[in-house]
Amino acid sequence: MKQDANVVVVGGGIIGSCSALFLARAGAGTVTVVERDLAFPAASTTRSASAIRQQFNLGINVAMSHFGYEFFTDLASYLPEGEDADIDFVERGYLVLAAHESTDRLALAHERQVENGAQVELLQRDELEKRFPWLKLDDIGAATFGTAGEGWFNPIKALDVVRRAAGAAGVSYVEGEVEAVTVDGGQVTGVSLSDGRSLECSVVINAAGPAAGTVAAMVGDPVPVEGRKRTVFLFRPKTEVEDLPNLVDPTVEGRGLYMRPYEDVFMAVTAPPPERDPATTDLEPDHYLFDEVIRPALARRVRGFEDVDLVRAWAGHYEMNTFDQNAIIGPHREVGGFYFACGLSGHGVMHAPAVGRAIAELVTEGAYRSLDLSMFSVERIARGEPLDDIQPSESRHQRAGI
Ligand SMILES: Cc1cc2nc3c(=O)[nH]c(=O)nc-3n(C[C@H](O)[C@H](O)[C@H](O)COP(=O)(O)OP(=O)(O)OC[C@H]3O[C@@H](n4cnc5c(N)ncnc54)[C@H](O)[C@@H]3O)c2cc1C
Repeated sequence: MKQDANVVVVGGGIIGSCSALFLARAGAGTVTVVERDLAFPAASTTRSASAIRQQFNLGINVAMSHFGYEFFTDLASYLPEGEDADIDFVERGYLVLAAHESTDRLALAHERQVENGAQVELLQRDELEKRFPWLKLDDIGAATFGTAGEGWFNPIKALDVVRRAAGAAGVSYVEGEVEAVTVDGGQVTGVSLSDGRSLECSVVINAAGPAAGTVAAMVGDPVPVEGRKRTVFLFRPKTEVEDLPNLVDPTVEGRGLYMRPYEDVFMAVTAPPPERDPATTDLEPDHYLFDEVIRPALARRVRGFEDVDLVRAWAGHYEMNTFDQNAIIGPHREVGGFYFACGLSGHGVMHAPAVGRAIAELVTEGAYRSLDLSMFSVERIARGEPLDDIQPSESRHQRAGI
């Protein structure tokens, strides 16, 4: 059976669904999302910590976060009147710590963030002591703290709202696995699904998350995107800590620790050591990280977290761009109609609205209109020129931080 479609979006996670929403609203024609499991049990999106920060070194990443914040706090305007748009958004800043020896680097990062329009304070140790009395600051010299546009929300609810908004804009969702992209004369002509169905289309958007490298290989040009496991641990302390923000402690094992409140408990995530961080599709939590790394790090950093009970853990996959941990966005270098929307390496939820809007502009107008995302082009990989914006607690040589 053949069905007609102008645009096929491969993957219905937050990037694919935002792309489909903006494509349909821009009048791209028939927009079909092909998703291999519409319950999204293994998607990065539904397993994410789903926090949003403005604290990036690259101005374009700050601008993408701005739009992400606007979008996720204004979802009702994308839905038919009266529909539920609540995603449990909690507005609270990111507090990014720096050890004494790293305060110069932090001050420089802060300067760049502010130049790029992020609302971020640089707090010295005495100010930190006053504002966050529960912090243990022995080795800490300073921190940055976001004062606007940062927080977290429920990613399952957010994906549901975006999918309903996309549906209202005319997008169809088809359950199935894309196993081939057909190309004729250098131009995309369709996709084949593993159950034998095929869809004709002139445009394919690769929003396959951690599987984006596999989907790119279908048109003969793989990109360096692979799934890297990150385990989320929920814990309950014996003593309550009030108003914990998003807290990034970069001093932990050189890979960093992220924590924040989660419903009535707390969440913590760290990265495994590089030698235990292979490309994987496995979703078994890395339980060893809690007792070996997280439990002692919590006790070291937060008054009240000396004694905590593990409540539960789950694992998800970062869609890691192993080249420079930044997005890969825009057209394929040779195949007409094939677009990348992948590789966001741990910040794909917050940037999905900006990616989706940009993809819609490229497809319908042939150029970026709102934000120029051309620096995320796949060309930089071919040229061997990595973008210099990494996670707050990550060191480049490890390519594996949180
Ligand atoms: C533990 C953890 C914490 C995170 N914390 C944050 C955070 O705080 N803030 C943030 O912004 N980001 C965070 N991220 C990253 C974020 O979750 C991802 O960047 C984002 O969800 C990527 O969205 P996606 O739509 O590209 O991928 P996914 O949600 O994985 O969606 C891709 C979809 O493609 C489908 N698919 C793949 N191949 C095919 C195929 N051949 N045919 C059909 N369908 C296919 C898959 O089934 C999947 O549903 C975190 C991730 C993890 C794992």
